[in-house]
Amino acid sequence: SVAVSVRSLSKVFGSGASAFRALDDVSVEIRQNEFFTLLGPSGCGKTTLLRLIAGFEQPSSGEILLDGEDLSARPPYQRPVNTVFQNYALFPHMTVTENISFGLEMLGRPKDEIKSVTAEMLRLVRLEAMADRRITQISGGQQQRVALARALAPKPKVLLLDEPLSALDLQLRKDMQLELKRLQTDTGITFVFVTHDQDEALTMSDRIAVMNGGEILQIGSPRDIYDKPQHRFVAGFIGEINLLPAVSMGEGEHSIAGVGLLRSDDVTALPNGAAATLAVRPERITLSKPSTASLPGVISNVVYHGTDTIFHFRLADGLEMRARSQNNTAQSRSFAKGDDIGWSVDASSVSVLADDP
Ligand code: ADP
Ligand code: MG
Repeated sequence: SVAVSVRSLSKVFGSGASAFRALDDVSVEIRQNEFFTLLGPSGCGKTTLLRLIAGFEQPSSGEILLDGEDLSARPPYQRPVNTVFQNYALFPHMTVTENISFGLEMLGRPKDEIKSVTAEMLRLVRLEAMADRRITQISGGQQQRVALARALAPKPKVLLLDEPLSALDLQLRKDMQLELKRLQTDTGITFVFVTHDQDEALTMSDRIAVMNGGEILQIGSPRDIYDKPQHRFVAGFIGEINLLPAVSMGEGEHSIAGVGLLRSDDVTALPNGAAATLAVRPERITLSKPSTASLPGVISNVVYHGTDTIFHFRLADGLEMRARSQNNTAQSRSFAKGDDIGWSVDASSVSVLADDP
């Protein structure tokens, strides 16, 4: 069932000539027990959407429902929602235990409940040994866990996390990604997680909403978003991709000027003769000797990357393409700069993109 329902939500900051539309008609349904990620570049409206759900901002139009209930009349502290902020916002002079129990005390929970829940949270984030340390006496990663424990302690229905890992170094961030995923599974709480990091989003999420310029462009599983991008922006923001200008010939056939025909399984409503952009991931391209079963190209560069090799090749129309192959395969050793090659892609790996709004 649906945990958070966002309907035609818009947010305009300021007014008149200085008005700025930070969110533009955003709709999304976030399911119960889901790890849901808002992914997009800085300034696209991720934090604004979280702040609206939390109640720190009021919508200009549209509505937000939690478990089917309209939240607009409820102040932040009366919403079954809690937030983990980017900077943690911990109390440095307090101990780990005091930080975790603080929110429960503010809510007026009974003393024995505060004690048992705090102990449970310390276990959950594996900080029992640090219980009596001050915040200034623990590491950044441990502070991150305290912030999580504190936000989880009141057992919110929905936990909002605004780029909570961005302050951590790479290795710690990778560890915490797995840890966060475990916490979400163990607690069964719906997580709405914000990041601008595509790898992070792909690794952790059940579903991802890709945002740009105050809009949600595409919502789907990590696999959907990666394999079946529907917009140029989505295709380019997540991973590497080749974009090929083409013309639709009907029935999934597309013509690339001066190069040949490429098939796609993507069923689109493009009329014959309509311009289309084809998107192909580098790892989906098969290189071979030139043949009638493949399209022609010339290798322009071979770049060794340790685990894999990137072949740059040029098409007759001058377009530069990239193919990627793992270094334990025959393809990774077979081609050198200047070689004439054939390239092919399975029709299931060719996406037809819409122009972005
Ligand atoms: P993100 O979290 O994706 O980086 P934000 O939601 O913080 O983006 O901001 C989206 C846009 O709205 C930005 O251009 C930002 O400058 C603007 N914005 C955010 N908050 C305010 C505010 N209180 N007043 C005016 N503009 C704001
Ligand atoms: Mg932000």
